[in-house]
Amino acid sequence: MFIVILGPPGAGKGTQAARIARSLRIPQVATGDMFRKHLGEGTELGWLARSFMDAGALVPDEVVCEMVQDRLQEPDCAEGALLDGFPRSLAQSEFLDRMLAERGQRVDRVVSLVVPDEEVVSRMGGRRTCLSCGATYHVRFSPPKVEGVCDRCGQPLVQRPDDREDTVRARLATYHRQTSPIVEHYRQGGVVLDVDGVGSIDAISEAIARGIEAVRR
Ligand code: ADP
Ligand code: AMP
Repeated sequence: MFIVILGPPGAGKGTQAARIARSLRIPQVATGDMFRKHLGEGTELGWLARSFMDAGALVPDEVVCEMVQDRLQEPDCAEGALLDGFPRSLAQSEFLDRMLAERGQRVDRVVSLVVPDEEVVSRMGGRRTCLSCGATYHVRFSPPKVEGVCDRCGQPLVQRPDDREDTVRARLATYHRQTSPIVEHYRQGGVVLDVDGVGSIDAISEAIARGIEAVRR
């Protein structure tokens, strides 16, 4: 099953994606995490992505699409994946649809997390991220067991440089301009599950799980 999770930055995509991927036993493919890994390793791709990420802009479509294509060709993605942060433009969604169609597959479900901009801005200040495994926490709403340390892998947690308020506002503008039209693109295909992303993390997970279960039956 191929599931796309969409929503503005800070909507809770990563938080929910980890839970869905675990319960469906499919890999979570998070393009932002992939770029941050490249950045940490100092690769050429990491350097290329950096200026776009710092500006709250999208990394060019060709670069992202090639990276995702390579990842989806790995054996663990043969039967499905949970795409978190991809696609982010109409060109990327068309690329994904085409790539899956060539394999006789399709995007089965698009989870659209709906969260107002001001909620996003207030959430991002408290986000802490593990650059090693991609896990995200919130100092108040979802704290780690030990302050500053990842529950999952024990590595230190950091505040992402692009979570500063001015960059968050730039990322929100990018989302509204370039990414939100994708929801309408998939709505025409009848696969969109709209989920209110404001509320407890557990209640949102349950709403997503119910919506996905309805499609699998
Ligand atoms: P995204 O992947 O969409 O950018 P994250 O999953 O990293 O978003 O969530 C953004 C921040 O908000 C994180 O600090 C996360 O712990 C927190 N968060 C996630 N879901 C909720 C929620 N339902 N209520 C409050 N905070 C949340
Ligand atoms: P995220 O971790 O999903 O919030 O992504 C962080 C940043 O990585 C974004 O602000 C973009 O600059 C870049 N990025 C991640 N995924 C994509 C994508 N699908 N297309 C273009 N840029 C992306």
